[in-house]
Amino acid sequence: MNWVLHPFALLRKGGIDKLSRAKGRNTIKKRGFNPGHLAFMIAIMRKPAILLCTCVLALTPGTPRFAQQSVGESHKWAVVLHGGAGVIERSHMDAKTEAAYRADLQTALQKAADTLDKGGSALDAVEAAIRYMEDDPLFNAGRGAVFTAAGKNELDSAIMDGSNLKAGAVAGVTRTRHPISLARAVMEKSPHVMLEGSGADDFAAANGLEMVNPSFFFTERRWQNLVDDLKQQGKPIPPRPAGAPPEPKKLTSDLMFPIESPEAHKFGTVGLVALDKQGNIAAGTSTGGLTAKMWGRVGDSPIIGAGTYADNRSCAVSGTGTGEYFIRLTVARTICALVQYKGMTLQEAADEVVQHQLTDIKGDGGIIAIDTKGDMVWSFNTEGMYRARISEGGKPEIGMYKDEK
Ligand code: ASP
Repeated sequence: MNWVLHPFALLRKGGIDKLSRAKGRNTIKKRGFNPGHLAFMIAIMRKPAILLCTCVLALTPGTPRFAQQSVGESHKWAVVLHGGAGVIERSHMDAKTEAAYRADLQTALQKAADTLDKGGSALDAVEAAIRYMEDDPLFNAGRGAVFTAAGKNELDSAIMDGSNLKAGAVAGVTRTRHPISLARAVMEKSPHVMLEGSGADDFAAANGLEMVNPSFFFTERRWQNLVDDLKQQGKPIPPRPAGAPPEPKKLTSDLMFPIESPEAHKFGTVGLVALDKQGNIAAGTSTGGLTAKMWGRVGDSPIIGAGTYADNRSCAVSGTGTGEYFIRLTVARTICALVQYKGMTLQEAADEVVQHQLTDIKGDGGIIAIDTKGDMVWSFNTEGMYRARISEGGKPEIGMYKDEK
C-alpha cells in the first residue's frame, strides 16, 4: 500500500489523490487545519507501532504525485501541438506549402491522439509526436533545424511530467537523432534535469539512443537561410558542413521547399502538451533554436519554466518564439502560476502572459497549453503559429494564420 504524509495526517495515496482533485488548482493555497486530522493524530499517538511506522514513512524520500486519477476512472484525453510561430501569412504561402504544413500537423496530431487513445501516457504522446516532427524537414527541430552562425545544428529539447514534476532537458546536442527522447532519458535514467553539449550526446549513445552524423540534420533551405542572414548582418559565411551535399548549381524550388516569408524561417520549433486517460498532463518542446545564433546559445525550449512546463495542479505549456524573452519572463511557469495561485482560466493566463507581458517587453511568439480538465488553449502575438488540437471524440482543429480560430 502506498502512503503519503499529509501535514496533519497520514493518507493513503488514493486519499491524497482525491484530496488534490477535490481542491483542484488551489490545493496548496487552501490546504489547512482540519479537526478530523487532529482526531486521527491523537488516535495514532496512542498506538506506538503506528506512530513508529508514521515516522519511518515520513523520512522516506518519495516522488510527489499530483492529482493523478484513481484506478478505474478515466479522463477524456486531449492534445495540443505547435510547429512554431512567426510571420506566417497567406500572402507569402503557396498552396503546396500550405497543404504540406497542414498535412504534417495533422499526422503529428494523429500520432499523439493514437497513443493517448490506446491508453498511452501523456509523456508517450508528447514523445511520439515530437519524434515525428523532428524527422520532418518542415520544422525547426531535428532534421531541418536552423544553423548557428558557425554553420552547425545545435539542438535543444525538454520534457516534463505534470504528475510528479520530473523533467529532463538537453541543450546543444549535435549527434542525437531524437533530442526529445534524449530529454526523456535524462529525466528517467539520470539523477539530473539538464545535460548539454557532447556530454548529452555521450549520454544518448550510452543509453542506446539512435546516433547520427551531424550532417543528418542538414537541409539546403536552412543553409541558405543562414547564408542570407549572415550576409545581411555583414558577418562571415562559414564553410558548408562536412558531409553536407555539395553546393547546388541552382537553388530549385524543390531544394528550397517550403516557400514562406523570409521572416518565417526564424522559428519552427515544435511542442506538444497532452492530457492522458489517467488524468496526467505532460509537455515537451524540441528546437534548433534561432538562425545564426552564437555558439553555445541556449534558448527557452530546454529551460524548465521558460519554454516548457507541466504540473497537474495547474497546466502544461510549450512555447515558441524569441527564447530570450521567454526566459526573462519564465513564460511557461508564469502561466501555470497564474492558473494555480490566481485562479485564472487557462486562456486568461495564457493571454495575460503572451498578449500583455511578452508583448510589453517586445517579445514575439506564442504558446500552447492544456490542463487536467481538458481545456486546450493557444495564444500568440505573431502573424501566425502552426498549431493543432483534438480531444477524445472531437474533430481535429488545425491552424496557421492569425485569423483562423
Ligand atoms: N524558442 C526557440 C528559441 O529561442 C525558437 C523557436 O521557438 O523557434 O530557441
